[in-house]
Amino acid sequence: MTQQSVNRCPCCGYRTGCTTCPVCFWTDDGQSDADAGMVAGGPNGEVSLSDARLNFAIYGASHRRYRDVVRAPRSDELP
Ligand SMILES: [Zn+2]
Repeated sequence: MTQQSVNRCPCCGYRTGCTTCPVCFWTDDGQSDADAGMVAGGPNGEVSLSDARLNFAIYGASHRRYRDVVRAPRSDELP
């Protein structure tokens, strides 16, 4: 598997390739730049992708409550 085949997290941008990103705890439900301002409900609750990116910049996690469960990105996950 090459690095290019690993999906980038739409929230933090690291190549974690997971449904729920271990770096920011955003759950990828198909939301992208086109609808980043939408609150989709679902696994990410009341947080839109735009909010999650802002939270990641502030707290290092897509939501404040995930601050303690996220981990630092590995070197092979850098965007
Ligand atoms: Zn992420």
